Amino acid sequence: MKLKKKVVVIGAGFGGLQVIKTLANHKDFDVVVVDKTNHHLFQPLLYQVATAVLSPADIAIPTRSITTKYSNVKLYMAEVHKIDVQTNEVSFADKKEKYDYLVLATGAKTSYFGNEEWKKYTFGLKNLKDALSIRKQILLSFEEAELSGDPSTIEQLLNYVIIGGGPTGVELAGSIAELSHNIIRKDFRIIDSAKTKVTLIEAGPRLLSSFHTSLSDFTKLKLEERGVEILLNSPVKSIDAEGITLADRKIKSKTVIWAAGVEAASITRELPFEKDKAGRLIVDGYCRIKEKPNIFVIGDAANFSHGLSRPLPGVSPVAMQQGRFVASLLLKDVNLDKVKTFEYFDKGNMATIGRTDAVAEFSVIRMSGFFGWLGWLFVHLIYQVGFKNKVSTLVSWIWSYITFRAGARLIQEEINSK
Ligand SMILES: Cc1cc2nc3c(=O)[nH]c(=O)nc-3n(C[C@H](O)[C@H](O)[C@H](O)COP(=O)(O)OP(=O)(O)OC[C@H]3O[C@@H](n4cnc5c(N)ncnc54)[C@H](O)[C@@H]3O)c2cc1C
Repeated sequence: MKLKKKVVVIGAGFGGLQVIKTLANHKDFDVVVVDKTNHHLFQPLLYQVATAVLSPADIAIPTRSITTKYSNVKLYMAEVHKIDVQTNEVSFADKKEKYDYLVLATGAKTSYFGNEEWKKYTFGLKNLKDALSIRKQILLSFEEAELSGDPSTIEQLLNYVIIGGGPTGVELAGSIAELSHNIIRKDFRIIDSAKTKVTLIEAGPRLLSSFHTSLSDFTKLKLEERGVEILLNSPVKSIDAEGITLADRKIKSKTVIWAAGVEAASITRELPFEKDKAGRLIVDGYCRIKEKPNIFVIGDAANFSHGLSRPLPGVSPVAMQQGRFVASLLLKDVNLDKVKTFEYFDKGNMATIGRTDAVAEFSVIRMSGFFGWLGWLFVHLIYQVGFKNKVSTLVSWIWSYITFRAGARLIQEEINSK
């Protein structure tokens, strides 16, 4: 009789979930999943929760509702705080779990490039808590501005600064401009929310640097049409409670959003293996650690450069394809010399600018404007996990499109679990 192998998967995000699904109900494997949250999160739509277009439950699904169908999968909600690579054991809560194979799919966290003190004065966007904090801050700033009689306080409250001109920064800037200049304009009597200033700051020479320059130019034009001020070649010098400082100016703001960088989640830093500057573990062509071939690292936690001029990007298709690849390796149980190394199938890049405008590129095909936007809507709907989430997201989008309203404009009070 063949002995069952135990696979421990840390992280049930884009990559981890594919490993779990591929090994599900397989008689040769026991799968133990550990995730510090109780949900699988569709991060590409986090910015819509942050700007009150969608509710948290539209973009997250309880992980147990997925694993309930998989009899060989045991799920723990806990943060893994130690991985012992000598004894093949992971520790979380007061438990220890032995593994035959370990899959590290722990994703990334916000990186301040060594300026940790900036964290205190900015909002990151990496999980639901971050998105709800931004939503609360934006909605509260309008309320506080309506209450304040002081013009300079009002100006500071209605100044929104977004640092980082990648897809997340662009999407946030477009969405905050739409919220303040259109959606909530009729809701206030004293302030004019259309006077809200949204500034998008990028250290490099163009927005969306991973896209073709024509799409970067289109994005800049469309954001400016929506009233967003764009500052290129403008690295941030410092950030404090008053706002931010650039080489040539200071911008006062109560709402500074940091969308400029990510690094691997903390647990990878603890491991005694080679990492890149962003803390990502260097893996071989099979997504394994060279010294420990029973440890696989996938998605945002990995630096996969095998045969490439630069590492694969931190995007969901990389994580999903690597998740399926690793699980299929385990299922094949064959001599690795005969198996092809991982090859990424690049499905292209997309970013939305706002209502009816997006940019998309698939190899040499480029789309912008309305058709790019329709493509963006379609792709983001089909990749949402769970039928209910697809339907509720679609309904919210149709409602917002027709009514010019955003349905999730709630300022949440603090909730204590005890
Ligand atoms: C705002 C935003 C917008 C994005 N937009 C896009 C987009 O439009 N298109 C695109 O392709 N990609 C986008 N991405 C990137 C994409 O979300 C990531 O590349 C993808 O999530 C990586 O998948 P992963 O499995 O590596 O990690 P994740 O999906 O992040 O999953 C990691 C999981 O590990 C868990 N975890 C971490 N540490 C521990 C620990 N110590 N113990 C237990 N559990 C742990 C976390 O709770 C999480 O569930 C976006 C990301 C963000 C933040």
